[in-house]
Parts: sequence; structure tokens; C-alpha cells
Amino acid sequence: MSSAKGSMNRQRPQKHQNRTAFKNNLHDTSTKTKFLNSMDVSGVCQKCKNIIEWKIKYKKYKSLTAPKKCVGCEQKTVKHNYHVLCNKCAREKDVCAKCYKKAEVIEATQTDAQMDVAALVKTLPERKRRTVMRFINKLGGEVTPDVRSQIEEMVAKLESTSLDNTEFDSSSDGDSCESDED
Ligand SMILES: [Zn+2]
Ligand SMILES: [Zn+2]
Repeated sequence: MSSAKGSMNRQRPQKHQNRTAFKNNLHDTSTKTKFLNSMDVSGVCQKCKNIIEWKIKYKKYKSLTAPKKCVGCEQKTVKHNYHVLCNKCAREKDVCAKCYKKAEVIEATQTDAQMDVAALVKTLPERKRRTVMRFINKLGGEVTPDVRSQIEEMVAKLESTSLDNTEFDSSSDGDSCESDED
């Protein structure tokens, strides 16, 4: 039983090792935290991305309950808290959606676009939601950042023409049986 005690190169880790980063989901496994942790911050400059990611990490991030007014197009199109511009305006002006400065903006990924659209669809009334879903399906179900802008534009238009008895989808099949799928 010769245990190599006192050998020079023991590989026991240090007692007070502090290599693991702070994890905000250690004691909180709520879906909201999970969702925020998986959120891709985009449309903003690196500096603002850091700020928002910091807020998410330390649970200071507050999600918007309703879209905010965009300082660019003056529509209620801002879906991300701390942003002052909607995605479309930020892209058009080529500025950071948060600090409004011309800077290298982090490009939205496809996951990001998908989550944006999913969040947007949730806020829509049934009929508009169907119109959007139909649009997505027509494109093969893929939501790229580009498709997202198209959808956002479409929803903005739907909102400005929300007369009660307007049928939004032009491809109306059947007259009065709109709930036959359920
Ligand atoms: Zn805008
Ligand atoms: Zn910024």
C-alpha cells in the first residue's frame, strides 16, 4: 500500500478556487430567467449589449409588457426594453437601438429573429396572429432577421388599418366559417 503521499505534482484543485462565473439560474430555474439567459441581445452596439447582458445576468432586466413608442417612426414598435428605436428604424439609420449612436451594431441572429416574432405573435389578436402565421408558413416557416422586419412592417400596417370588419387576409377561403379549423 504505497500511497504516493507528498508527491511533488499533486493535482488537487485549490480550496478557494473561484473559477466558475456567477450563475443567476443556480437557485432560480423559472422559465423567465431561462428565457432571458437564452436571449440574444442584438440590434445594439457592443457597449449597450454589455449593459443589457449585465442586467440579464444580475436580474435587473425588466421585460416590456407592451411595445414602446419608437423615437424614429413614432409607432409602438419597440419590443425590447431599454431600446429607443425599433429594429427597423435602427437598421435603416444604421445606429444602435439603445443609445442611438452610429456604432458597430451586433447583427441579429436567426434565433433572435424567431424569438422576436414569437413574442410579437403572442401579443396579437387571433385574426392578426393567423395572418402572420400564414405569412410565415408561406415563406417556409423560416424566420430570418429579414423576415422579421417584413412581419413587423406588416403588423404595423395591420394596426393602422384595424377597422372592425376588414378582412385582413386577401386569400379568404369561404365566407363565414373562419373558425372551422378549431
Ligand atoms: Zn421605428
Ligand atoms: Zn449603443
